[in-house]
Amino acid sequence: MIHVCEPSTTKAEIKWVNKALKENKISSASGLVEKFEQAFAKRIGTKYAVAVNSGTSAIFIALKALGIKEGDEVIVPDFTMIATATAVSHCGATPVFVDVEDDTFNIDPDLIEEKITTKTKAIIPVHLYGQPCKMDEIRALADRYGLFVVEDAAEAHGAEYRGIRAGSIGDVGCFSFYANKIITTGEGGAITTNNKELADEMRMIRAFYFPKAGHFWHKKIGYNMRMSSLEAAYGLGQLERWNELINNRIKNAQRYIKHLKKYVDIPISVPNNKNVFWMFIIHTKYRDELMEFLEKKGIETRTGFTPCHLQPPYKENKEYPVSEDLAKKTMYLPSASSLTKKDQNKVIDAVKEYFEKNKIDDYNLHGEIRLPAGITYTLNPPQDLQTDYYNI
Ligand SMILES: *Cc1c(COP(=O)(O)O)cnc(C)c1O
Repeated sequence: MIHVCEPSTTKAEIKWVNKALKENKISSASGLVEKFEQAFAKRIGTKYAVAVNSGTSAIFIALKALGIKEGDEVIVPDFTMIATATAVSHCGATPVFVDVEDDTFNIDPDLIEEKITTKTKAIIPVHLYGQPCKMDEIRALADRYGLFVVEDAAEAHGAEYRGIRAGSIGDVGCFSFYANKIITTGEGGAITTNNKELADEMRMIRAFYFPKAGHFWHKKIGYNMRMSSLEAAYGLGQLERWNELINNRIKNAQRYIKHLKKYVDIPISVPNNKNVFWMFIIHTKYRDELMEFLEKKGIETRTGFTPCHLQPPYKENKEYPVSEDLAKKTMYLPSASSLTKKDQNKVIDAVKEYFEKNKIDDYNLHGEIRLPAGITYTLNPPQDLQTDYYNI
């Protein structure tokens, strides 16, 4: 079976975890978590990173630290992993869903304003599948209405919006290090920010609201959402491989685009954005049949997300046409950073075979990958990818 994703453990991770074990550094107070935080903040380009036990906790703690509470509303894209919405619910607040764009699959900035009320406190743009959202438009709206911007960058390690790293654009950035994410610690997450007070507050919320100095005096109710030292150690190994892990995702996507653009739609990569292609998502009306066909060939795939407004806890009778269309027609192909060329060729050949054999001539909705004419990719793509990022 070729899996949709697999973590990649190499000498680098083993070295760090062994070192932690040999030095008896298994306590989250051993210094390794701090070391990981500093290394991660540097990668994202923020002053601070606060490591936690999951991406969901990262969003929850960020919202808590910003004072989100019962009665508040937070804007969330309808098409996302459920954790974005549940983190809002855990604060006692209400997620308010907004439909996504049919070309990027990200929250549609033009549809946000109509959902803003006097109760709205924050917007959570999700950089879906590694593609940064339209942050200028979102920031402008947030400023006009006095809202916080909490980036859900769980799928976007290393992604860039106009040359700025995802996770360093909003008031806070939230990352996941779940095993299928581009950078992983098995389970884990981090919150990035340039705001010292916010970082201090998040550290306290993370651990029982312990004060910075002194012990066993708790001004508020905190949680235990700490990252473990061994997870941080593993993560330090992954951070050494930052470029490799991210560039491999991009290279996988480039090869898929080159060979499959004739058959399926993919979200456009917005000019001046660096899309890191967490998962290679495709859009085709033959989705269910294609998934079945690939499964028989030993290729694992997965559907795109189920829209939040269709989930039992968030059931709504409103319409989110794009999100509903994506739910029916999107799926992702094997996308691991460690995917071999041989395995990827098997996937490519199988997808081709499906479409050729079935003689479907109106392969995709748009006939071509939806890239505006004359667009070239300019902002720091990895050196080795510079020449043909968009010319495939
Ligand atoms: C993975 C993911 C999360 C949750 O992260 P966990 O570490 O699994 O809690 C949140 N948002 C998005 C968009 C994700 O993909």
